[in-house]
Amino acid sequence: MSSNYPKTFQKLIENFSSLPSIGPKLAERLVFHLFKEKKETLAAFAENLSALQDLKSCQRCFNIAEEKLCGICQDSHRDSSIICVVENPLDVIAIEKTGIYKGVYHVLGGLLGSATAKQEENLKIKELLARIKKENIQEVIIATNPTTEGDLTALYLKRKLQSFSIKITRLGRGLSTGGDIEYADEITLSSSISHRQEI
Ligand SMILES: [Zn+2]
Repeated sequence: MSSNYPKTFQKLIENFSSLPSIGPKLAERLVFHLFKEKKETLAAFAENLSALQDLKSCQRCFNIAEEKLCGICQDSHRDSSIICVVENPLDVIAIEKTGIYKGVYHVLGGLLGSATAKQEENLKIKELLARIKKENIQEVIIATNPTTEGDLTALYLKRKLQSFSIKITRLGRGLSTGGDIEYADEITLSSSISHRQEI
């Protein structure tokens, strides 16, 4: 089907197809749709895509940041004595949507446990321990997904954190086993934050 396309079409179809949940047919439709858009719309789209390259990881918590520190780390109204440890920045967004958490975060960048999971040294665990030593932390909430990998990572972190005199908690029940924090509804997620339990 694709050999008749101009090169630009072909390349863009490949770009779109490489995204999650987008097959070649949908990619084709999206590229055709863009083709019919106004020049300004396309220019803005291209500009936004290009600006993605300028986003960084927060130097403190590894959330997405536009500057050295992310918006949450820069916010002096946040309670920096509580760290919520999550797998990725999408979890930060999900928890922020609930509006009930006022602490700060630490993004691990993956989970331990399976063949596809990351190794310990690839996660921001050393950096978490360094923060606990340096910052005045009272509580660490381990908010990894209730999956095998999430549980394993939580257990591993618990062992690493045991020597510090801090409270270690995990999100409470309500999140379905095997489920993802980033897809949990706000009410369930709020309640699991409120009902977090010491581990
Ligand atoms: Zn940050």
